Amino acid sequence: MADPAILLDVAAIQATYSQTIRALNGVSLSVRKGKILAVLGSNGAGKTTTLRAISNLLPAERGQVTSGSITFEGDSVLTRKPADLVRAGLVQVLEGRHCFKSLNVEENLVSGGLGRSATRAQIASDLEFVYQTFPRLKEKRRVSAGLISGGEQQMTAIGRALMSRPRLLVLDEPSMGLAPMIIRDIFRALKRLNRESGLSILVAEQNSTVALQYADFATVVENGRTVLSGTAAELRSREDIKAFYLGEADSLSTGRPAA
Ligand code: ATP
Repeated sequence: MADPAILLDVAAIQATYSQTIRALNGVSLSVRKGKILAVLGSNGAGKTTTLRAISNLLPAERGQVTSGSITFEGDSVLTRKPADLVRAGLVQVLEGRHCFKSLNVEENLVSGGLGRSATRAQIASDLEFVYQTFPRLKEKRRVSAGLISGGEQQMTAIGRALMSRPRLLVLDEPSMGLAPMIIRDIFRALKRLNRESGLSILVAEQNSTVALQYADFATVVENGRTVLSGTAAELRSREDIKAFYLGEADSLSTGRPAA
């Protein structure tokens, strides 16, 4: 019997691109309801591939999950269309803060609510919710998304995902290329959403310091496989993990950590 406290379960998945390039070779992780899971790993470790698999987006990249299972609320995601998964509440913010550059901020946000046949009143109240979460976006609501800062684009991409009313929000490296203060604002907003709305979050990050500060649990991926999982507090206390698995070699320690 599936554990009802587990929202998303990824069990020993293997995945390839173009049927030959093995990208994942045993990734396992789970997101508990109402919790934040950080998926950590250096460049090329397999985080993006894992996230694509979770939203069943690998086929669009000529990739496939070749073994293992991924379930969202007990049902396999691998037989469902990505758009159906969004409607079921599994919503992903892709790497690279994708926005429609020719649309303004508000039009970008509204586009996130279109898939779920919401009324105008629902869209208006969801917009207000996004503006409360990211007040900067309200100031920029009429500005073209191509003209706002990188941080504001990331907030717009997250806001658009929120407009789909996620139950699990999946984010791929939201900190990438952003200044520390903006990263902090974004993670604080995510933490507030988690605390106040019970939103479950899976966030893939190379920036383990910031991710471990806000997450409840963490999973470390290296060379396409899970090498370590635990509470964020446990992983925070182990500086050696950063040195060996996360490409932060100057963060001290000798001796490889026991997994
Ligand atoms: P990054 O931080 O650079 O996004 P990552 O941890 O997300 O790294 P992945 O992008 O999942 O890692 O890459 C895992 C492996 O799969 C790498 O060896 C990468 O070269 C390969 N890979 C990723 N995308 C593709 C693709 N579309 N086609 C072929 N190989 C790919």
